[in-house]
Amino acid sequence: MSARPLIDSLEFASAGEQLTGSVPVSEFARLSDSLHDADGGLQFEIRGGRDSRQRLRLHMTVTGSIDLLCQRCLGKLIYPLAVKTNLLLLTNGAEADAGGIDDLDGVPATAQTDVWSLVEDEVLLAIPLAPRHAEGQCSPAVKGSGDSAASPFAALAKLAHERSIKN
Ligand SMILES: [Zn+2]
Repeated sequence: MSARPLIDSLEFASAGEQLTGSVPVSEFARLSDSLHDADGGLQFEIRGGRDSRQRLRLHMTVTGSIDLLCQRCLGKLIYPLAVKTNLLLLTNGAEADAGGIDDLDGVPATAQTDVWSLVEDEVLLAIPLAPRHAEGQCSPAVKGSGDSAASPFAALAKLAHERSIKN
């Protein structure tokens, strides 16, 4: 088990620090509704710095793949991710300047910024709202009604049925 890394984002950015690591997909609670399963992990790299206007930023890349739930066949859809983002740290001063940052991503600057949560934010933005396999690529095992073993919902229904018999 690795602890969730917390950074003081202003200090991290002004010192030009760098952090790399990986997050188990099972840690992404907000993502769970979109997932087929929580196997694997995502790699991230986060680097502090300043932009051309001397504003503090966090550059972040997230790579790997997650197993999304296909909305058509409820099968596994392996979704590769390669996200690059450049987050502006929003301090009180930067917010006053917010008129000019409509087109940019910003995060509130805090002394205990949860890096995994930043990674999850980017993943949530990157995945499709209703992920589906390409046309004709859906899993035939779930489409056909015969093979109940292939469907997690059929297994759940069976379990519920068995429980109701016992009670
Ligand atoms: Zn599908």
